[in-house]
Amino acid sequence: MLAGSYDPALVLISLCVAMLASYTALDLAGRIATTRGWPVLLWIGGGGVAMGIGVWSMHFIGMLAFSLPIPLGYDLTLTLLSLAIAVLSSGFALALVSQDRLPLWHLLCGALAMGAGISCMHYLGMYAMLMQPGIDYDPTLFGLSLVIAVAASGAALWIAFQLRHNTPYVRLARAGAALVMGVAIVGMHYTGMAAARFPEGSFCGASPSGLDSDWLALLIIIVTLAVIGIALLTSVLDARLESRTAQLTSSLAQANQELTQLALHDNLTRLPNRVLLEDRIEQMIGKVQRSGGHFALMFLDLDGFKPVNDAFGHHVGDLLLKAVAQRLRDSLRSEDTVARIGGDEFVVLAELAEAEDAVTVASQQVNLLAQPFQVAGQELRIAASIGITLYPGDGSTQQELLRNADAAMYHAKGNGKNGYSFFEQSMNTNARNHLQLLHDLRAALDRREFTLHYQPKFAASGEPIGAEALLRWQHPQRGLMMPDTFIALAERTGLIIPIGDWVLDEACRQMREWYLQGHESWRVAVNLSALQFCHAALVQSVADALQRHQLPARCLTLEITETTAMRDADSSLEILGKLSDMGVDLSIDDFGTGYSSLLYLKRLPANELKIDRGFVRDLEQDSDDAAIVSAIVALGQALDLRIVAEGVETSGQQNFLTRLGCDSLQGFLLGKPVPAEQFLERLSVPV
Ligand code: C2E
Ligand code: CA
Ligand code: CA
Repeated sequence: MLAGSYDPALVLISLCVAMLASYTALDLAGRIATTRGWPVLLWIGGGGVAMGIGVWSMHFIGMLAFSLPIPLGYDLTLTLLSLAIAVLSSGFALALVSQDRLPLWHLLCGALAMGAGISCMHYLGMYAMLMQPGIDYDPTLFGLSLVIAVAASGAALWIAFQLRHNTPYVRLARAGAALVMGVAIVGMHYTGMAAARFPEGSFCGASPSGLDSDWLALLIIIVTLAVIGIALLTSVLDARLESRTAQLTSSLAQANQELTQLALHDNLTRLPNRVLLEDRIEQMIGKVQRSGGHFALMFLDLDGFKPVNDAFGHHVGDLLLKAVAQRLRDSLRSEDTVARIGGDEFVVLAELAEAEDAVTVASQQVNLLAQPFQVAGQELRIAASIGITLYPGDGSTQQELLRNADAAMYHAKGNGKNGYSFFEQSMNTNARNHLQLLHDLRAALDRREFTLHYQPKFAASGEPIGAEALLRWQHPQRGLMMPDTFIALAERTGLIIPIGDWVLDEACRQMREWYLQGHESWRVAVNLSALQFCHAALVQSVADALQRHQLPARCLTLEITETTAMRDADSSLEILGKLSDMGVDLSIDDFGTGYSSLLYLKRLPANELKIDRGFVRDLEQDSDDAAIVSAIVALGQALDLRIVAEGVETSGQQNFLTRLGCDSLQGFLLGKPVPAEQFLERLSVPV
């Protein structure tokens, strides 16, 4: 028997290589488990090569560590064949543990196949020495080495399968497992070596062509480390990339969710927006169609929101809208929808047990919003007009229901605001009429359908002091139309600018006539809309009209409402300043209905305050109104402004107002608006 010996350094290296290869295998198994699609094949292929080379080189370094008293060598072909077997069985093992499940019989077959592969590789590697006569194997140790190979393979497969997912201490666990697996692989190899007996006088058939074993060992170690290192590095980098990708994916999902929230909700109030509302209506229609029942769609528009916005600024307006949203939301059941679909427009979608319940819900909303709001230290009062459609009944599609609810809301507003209206088919006709009206309005100027009526103004002494020019539209089909029926439309469409210019021109022309007739101290008052007031050309238009008719500026009063004057205070001041410099008389109309700041009022170059006729109407019954009127009179006197009362209908009112100290009066009692031709004769003053 030839006595073999081992180089301890190489034995140690072989153990290290075995452990490293095991660790790589575990890591790759983890990589494969979290990868999807064709890259799995790439990982199994690459991993099989790296691990196979690792296992094989452990074995080969172990062989090189062994020496006999005779020169040893290895047959190249057989050695390469053993390498191929190592690669194939490694690839097979990786493919097995990368499955989603590893049933026991898979594990057993896998252990057998892999154990057989490793054993084949080992004994083929031994055979590559081409010993003459052949190697004698101790049957017990030989058998033991096979058992170790199969058992170690089984254990390795099981561990790799268990550790394939990324858990908190997975790297540590893999390192521990790699240690065990490495020892098992090495154990198999050295048991197999121990089983080998080399009879006395043996010689190595492969030695003459063999390479120098020291260099061979070094070469194999370097190549193996390089291959395993690259595999490991790739795996770690790829895992990083994957976890980054996972992170990105999750933040993308979150961003998407936020975007959906944004896309479906109103930014200010966080209520659903129109898009989400339409979807909810569709769903509700479907539900009622399937299982019966009713629902109501309520189109809600705030009354008096614009003046708040104008007087206190957008910030307060926004806070008020939020408060309104909150109040609406709190008053409804969670399954009802409140959406904000425009500036001060909300829609309530409520499922009802009985269609009649809509009345309860609507009147509740109206009452709720009529309660004062405390916003930014102010008490604000607004109201709501609601239009209601019911399903089934008032429309078959979401669009139709909304459109009809909108029409009903306009109807509610027309009925004096702060209330609700149920949709009726006739309201749609109204909408069509509305369109026709707009069409007619565009043509009215060219067709010379506008005229002015004049309502006289009187001093407290009873003497006429001028007139207010009030616009009328002589409509070819509808007859004489009052400004309330078309001014809003003209403002919305911008038509008020040319119409307003016409009014200014016509009023100046008429005043010039009266002037020439001897009424040189009279003033004609012209109403300006908010839009005209914002229009840059206003000052020039006024100057042109005065110039054209050679009218002294003091004969023209411009009336702007309190709300208009208080909006964008600075630019109002500038425009009013220019008009005042021209000598034009300025009046603040509908005073008491808006929100004036006293400080600001003081800076306004106005000459007159016109008490809103709402206060005059109930003067005799309502002591509050009397108090307000006397406060306004006192205020006007303090600020050196003339006080005009309009809407005087009874002599009681007349006496009261005169007593309070109003400078001039206007109203049906004293004279109704009439065409210019009738004005003087109605006054019954001698011409
Ligand atoms: P306003 O400026 O407050 O005009 C006074 C309104 O009160 C007029 O209504 C007038 O007919 C009415 N009135 C006068 N005396 C009495 C009375 O004793 N009792 C009652 N109940 N009402 C009285 P009208 O002519 O229908 O005008 C309504 C509004 O239309 C005006 O309110 C004004 O804001 C606007 N308007 C009229 N003409 C023009 C115009 O040329 N341009 C602009 N932008 N607006 C105009
Ligand atoms: Ca007026
Ligand atoms: Ca007025």
